[in-house]
Amino acid sequence: DFAHGIALYLDDITVTFDGFRALNKLSLQVGVGELRCIIGPNGAGKTTMMDCITGKTRPDSGTASFGSTIDLLRLSEPQIAQVGIGRKFQKPTVYEELSVFENLELALAGDRRVQAALFHRLSGAQLDRIGEVLLTIHLRDQAQRQAGLLSHGQKQWLEIGMLLMQDPKLLLLDEPVAGMTDEETERTAELFLSLEGKHSLVVVEHDMKFVDQLTEGRKKVTVLHEGSVLAEGLLSEVQANEKVVEVYLGR
Ligand code: ADP
Repeated sequence: DFAHGIALYLDDITVTFDGFRALNKLSLQVGVGELRCIIGPNGAGKTTMMDCITGKTRPDSGTASFGSTIDLLRLSEPQIAQVGIGRKFQKPTVYEELSVFENLELALAGDRRVQAALFHRLSGAQLDRIGEVLLTIHLRDQAQRQAGLLSHGQKQWLEIGMLLMQDPKLLLLDEPVAGMTDEETERTAELFLSLEGKHSLVVVEHDMKFVDQLTEGRKKVTVLHEGSVLAEGLLSEVQANEKVVEVYLGR
């Protein structure tokens, strides 16, 4: 249950690859409905952290729970997806040959076979849900368009829409605006802000302008460095933090 207002709880997580500590006693708490940006230089451990949350990598030690009761370290990768954690990788992976609508239809079916999913008759509620997601991802007028013909940004939104079809409680997003135009980046910020509250979001991002748009001058960001949390606070605070400046400029 999420009664304590905690969506994600990582405590003292250590991950070693051949003796190298990719995560070093990492602790992080994300509240229910919170939008948390994670920043940090290359190699800081951001991807490894996401991999631990989704069960792709198993930590050597530590605790990872979803809500206050679901022990993520005891679940398989598919089970973790089923309890309501959706992850979006950097590159969009939509079905290029299918329409936007069909992509969402498939995502609704989860892992059912493609053919079976597309020939399955949709219920009114399912149609409503697809319509709702199309609006959220700004693709309402592109529903019948072949996904392969969308712009890079639109493909990214479609993939986020595909995640939303499963109504995840927690969304993990890895550099969602990489390669987007300024306008697409701004619309993506709007999209994420519209999801905040209904879902918890963890966004790994390098684009500080985007982080600024997402945090609206009042939300906490977390800075990772060498596998642990170097600083946490408002973007303006962490950007003024001497340790953070050193890490970004290199010593
Ligand atoms: P980030 O996403 O912040 O750039 P990563 O989590 O990808 O950082 O990597 C953290 C560190 O762990 C890096 O030094 C990287 O080289 C190392 N690392 C990540 N995955 C592996 C792996 N499978 N085997 C060995 N080293 C790895």
